[in-house]
Amino acid sequence: MNKPEENNIDNLVYTQKERCRRCYTCVRECPAKAIRIVNGQAEVIQERCIACGNCVKVCSQNAKVFVKSIERVKQLLASEEKVAAIVAPSFPAEFMSLPRHQTFVGMVRGLSFDYVNEVAFGADLIAHKFKSLMEEGEIYKYISADCPAIVSFIEKYHPHLVQHLAPIASPMVATARVVREKYGEDVKIVFLGPCIAKKKESEEVDEVLTFRELREFFEQEIVTPGNTKPSGFDTPLSGKGAIFPVSRGLIQAVNIDDDIYKGDIIVAEGRQNFQEAIREFESGLIRQEHLELLCCEGCIMGAGMTSSVNRYAKRTFIKNYVKKKLEQTNKKNWKKDLDYYLQQLDLNFRFNENDQRMALPSRDDIIETLKKMGKHDPGDHLNCGACGYETCEEHAVAICKGLAETEMCLPYTIESLHESITKLNDSNQKLESTREALKQSEKLASMGQLSAGIAHELNNPLGVVIMYANILLDEASEDEEASEDLKLIAEQAERCKKIVGGLLNFARKNQIKPDELDTEELAKSSINAIIIPDNIKTEVQCKVKNKYAELDEEQMLQLLSNLCKNAIEAMPKGGNLTIRIEEEEENIVFFIEDTGEGIPKENLDKIFEPFFTTKGIGKGTGLGLATIYGIAKMHNGTITVDSNTDPEQGPTGTSFKVTIPRYAKANK
Ligand code: ADP
Ligand code: MG
Repeated sequence: MNKPEENNIDNLVYTQKERCRRCYTCVRECPAKAIRIVNGQAEVIQERCIACGNCVKVCSQNAKVFVKSIERVKQLLASEEKVAAIVAPSFPAEFMSLPRHQTFVGMVRGLSFDYVNEVAFGADLIAHKFKSLMEEGEIYKYISADCPAIVSFIEKYHPHLVQHLAPIASPMVATARVVREKYGEDVKIVFLGPCIAKKKESEEVDEVLTFRELREFFEQEIVTPGNTKPSGFDTPLSGKGAIFPVSRGLIQAVNIDDDIYKGDIIVAEGRQNFQEAIREFESGLIRQEHLELLCCEGCIMGAGMTSSVNRYAKRTFIKNYVKKKLEQTNKKNWKKDLDYYLQQLDLNFRFNENDQRMALPSRDDIIETLKKMGKHDPGDHLNCGACGYETCEEHAVAICKGLAETEMCLPYTIESLHESITKLNDSNQKLESTREALKQSEKLASMGQLSAGIAHELNNPLGVVIMYANILLDEASEDEEASEDLKLIAEQAERCKKIVGGLLNFARKNQIKPDELDTEELAKSSINAIIIPDNIKTEVQCKVKNKYAELDEEQMLQLLSNLCKNAIEAMPKGGNLTIRIEEEEENIVFFIEDTGEGIPKENLDKIFEPFFTTKGIGKGTGLGLATIYGIAKMHNGTITVDSNTDPEQGPTGTSFKVTIPRYAKANK
């Protein structure tokens, strides 16, 4: 069963969307620019389409198809009416495998057509009509109108040239008139030919079957050379008109070999050539010549043929057919028929303007659109043609007209793809490092919770121990032995209290009291608060426009001097200690840098843990960085470290970076 759109004659050519694969070949091949790309898919704009079928021929996915007329022809044949088949002269090129034309005609009759006539006779009539026009000296301003796609193209895109279309019927319409003259007005007429555009050419023909459909029809009805009787065409039989599909135009078909005429006829075939000829005709360059234009490279290459290969074999077939046919033609009868119908029939035809031109977008719009595709100056116009348009500019115009999309530009799409990949890589990397940081801070947070709990529980008993140790110390006289022991108890208990305090700091259980501070002064005092060995040089570099920030003075002093202490301890043989102050957006940043031994990679994610130390027992508590971490957190800041231990990689040393929001509003 056919789908509904397959039978809708208004949609002559359409897309089977599920098959369309974004190659834009149809856009490139469409002379009428009647294909709109929507979301990457090609859609035929019916009112712009000239039904040349170029898109059908070039679509490798068979996504472009044309309407089928078989069902309607079947209905005609089943009706009471007499039905005549009129056959285009290109049929020998389609049915090359059939031994002679009588076999083919017999098969057509086998489909129950009442009459089978030759359109070649119509071509004879038209050729003679042209000849008389030429002899009257009129012909030179005309464009021949035998190709319906060309006629449609001129009506739609060069409407002011419609007056130059030769006002003569096409061979098909002329033949239809012959058939009606012969069999009566009521006879139904079905054209069998190589062309899709014929389906809409004229109301004088009831239906049109392309040769592709005819083959399908033969198969459906099981009509074969074996089960049909060979038979000749019905009269009137044709003469040289039969050569029309391979000739260089109609006029040559009537064998006008007068040199004067020959030179004045321009024959242009194929989608590029015919457009060029129209442009030149339009510009007045070739106004004195007659134009024979065909949309396909000869009707034998029409989209209604089963295949578009074997072009030269097809030509030979037609030539041989005509040669044989002409040998058998009774010239006298032919001439009689010709004269009769030339006299009987009105062979005139009228064409109508059907302007489908679209207003050209403004220069600014075009430039803007080009920019959107990354084309800022002429050097960016690659004119690669991948979008289906000859130039980038034409593509931009089509976008402005709503016919195309920016994504059709291959270089632009590749470029954007690259950008997306780079962005994706960047964000992947960021994600990775954020994940690492999160893992680290989660670990520290749970440690913080544990330490805070322990510290809290220890705080009270420790207070009691210190208090009683001091009371006992006061009571004991100095020289007593116990006095020394009590002193030791009180001292060590104090030390415990400090450790507990450090743990509480790490767990961020304390609040900050921000003041507006001069960060440079802060850095200097933090260095002054510790003893600096002689072999160490210190320096404070202040590289900010605004050195003030809202910080908790006491805690920041502790943070900076703790970092300085670590730095000094990492430089037993001397070196440089620098505090550098910078600013990043809304943050104030302290770099504490030393030229010490550095921190081994494997320690980097442990150094902030409480009690992690590489210093000997009694030397380090491992609470310095844990406290610093807590202080930075309390200020809504961050602390990171960068270190090198390998002299081969460059100078060794460590750089701590402490980033703190300049304004403490979030902390209050
Ligand atoms: P502590 O100083 O009591 O060992 P910290 O928490 O202050 O505890 O430091 C933890 C560890 O981090 C140190 O033992 C040391 O190994 C390492 N460290 C910290 N700062 C530096 C630095 N500037 N250079 C080299 N190692 C450092
Ligand atoms: Mg320390």
